[in-house]
Amino acid sequence: MSATAQPPIAAVVPESITPSLPELDRASVLHPSTSIADFASGKLPSTIVEGASGVRIRISENGAPATELIDAFAGLYCVNIGYGRSEVADAIGRQAHQLAYFHTYAGHSTDEMILLSDRLVRMAPVGHDGEPMQRVFYGTSGSDANETNAKLVWYYHNLIGKPRKKRIIARERAYHGNSVMAGSMTGLNFYHNFMDLPVSAIVRAGAPHHYWGANPGETEEQFSARRAGELEALILREDPETIGAFIGEPVLGTGGLIPPPAGYWAAIQAVLRKYDILLIADEVITGFGRTGRLFGCDRYGIQPDLITIAKGLTSAYAPLSGVIVGKRVYDVMKAGSAEAGVFPHGYTYTGHPIGVAAANANLDILERENLTGNADEVGSYMLAALHNAFDGLPITGEVRGVGLMLAVEFVADPGTKRRLDPANTVTYRISKRARELGVITRAMPQSEALGFAPPLVLSRAEADQIVETAVRATREVLDELSRESVQL
Ligand SMILES: *Cc1c(COP(=O)(O)O)cnc(C)c1O
Repeated sequence: MSATAQPPIAAVVPESITPSLPELDRASVLHPSTSIADFASGKLPSTIVEGASGVRIRISENGAPATELIDAFAGLYCVNIGYGRSEVADAIGRQAHQLAYFHTYAGHSTDEMILLSDRLVRMAPVGHDGEPMQRVFYGTSGSDANETNAKLVWYYHNLIGKPRKKRIIARERAYHGNSVMAGSMTGLNFYHNFMDLPVSAIVRAGAPHHYWGANPGETEEQFSARRAGELEALILREDPETIGAFIGEPVLGTGGLIPPPAGYWAAIQAVLRKYDILLIADEVITGFGRTGRLFGCDRYGIQPDLITIAKGLTSAYAPLSGVIVGKRVYDVMKAGSAEAGVFPHGYTYTGHPIGVAAANANLDILERENLTGNADEVGSYMLAALHNAFDGLPITGEVRGVGLMLAVEFVADPGTKRRLDPANTVTYRISKRARELGVITRAMPQSEALGFAPPLVLSRAEADQIVETAVRATREVLDELSRESVQL
């Protein structure tokens, strides 16, 4: 800025000052997953988040005084310990004063990073062949951790002399991030359109969603066996010598909060073992308690080679992600080190001291308050409450979930599973109405599922309040649609 630049703007600019914060927002910020023209024109509200505590958040719209909402989505399924935990803020502050930054290249470490890594390796589920996980590599986002995974898959196969075994199988409705490789692994067109994704290194497999994918009369077990058979056929068709890895979320997240059908992971893993295909478990949402187990792998008996972690690792108090590397991959990397030389991967912020300090403080709270157990207990309670509230409604197709990853999927006709017309944006309207009534839910992208993923500190009373508000919003929108004579 030049010497004639304006004075710095105070933390809160009163509405009377021009330009106001909402105006500056519209004039200067490119927001993710936001209509660019509607935001710039002001058709979309300017939404300024002012503060938060526990499961509650204070939000101001278009400069109006802030209102308090229950955040039943924990930001983006990430604020697991709830908002405003000063223990984590203090840990971040202490670290910033002691050492805000140094890199971790050429073997440099900080005490907090060493302690966190030891802890993560011990917390992690067992990997391939029941062997314990071995090492942790850090990044700052789930997306960059999955970029690391792709590179590790390539590195591993180059080192074992299988340079053709490089393509990665990812599933329909997967979400693995938004960078080039991770965005390609993502199986939702919403994130691909006009972006030249996915890249050709990705091979697509079917979504593990019984409600939409099963043939009439097919049980969950039969559907899982069919998906595994289709996977094997896909691998044979594409040539097993070109398939290096399979990536999957233990429970689909952004694709609609979809627990796997019974028997799915056992059947899939048998196929991967048969063709020496590495398994990447993307635990960015499911890691650190959200499914009511420490990891989704623990819940579903998954033994991965690589595990992606982010979101719940710090409860989003600071950006930190990681890849936990299993024995099959680590042993090859170590043995190949003499030939391959120095490991040629890393980011400026790998192992950032503030991120790892936040992670340690976050995991202290997760363990001390048994939030994993609370997610299991309150999650089961909330799933039952959702069934109670929604099962009788004329548009409820499926109520589903595990731990505190829950959803209600709406259809035009539950009997025939006729889909809602996306043009009517029914789920979006329900989510918007619930927000007006004081609860943040999420209309999941490219679907008609209303998603819930609250902080793991949720109480039963708060679960009740979320469910009551969501069902009230649904009834009100149904009434509106019928008044507007909208054909579902
Ligand atoms: C959010 C998410 C990612 C990407 O994380 P970012 O930090 O947004 O890059 C990757 N995988 C899963 C399963 C996620 O939910």
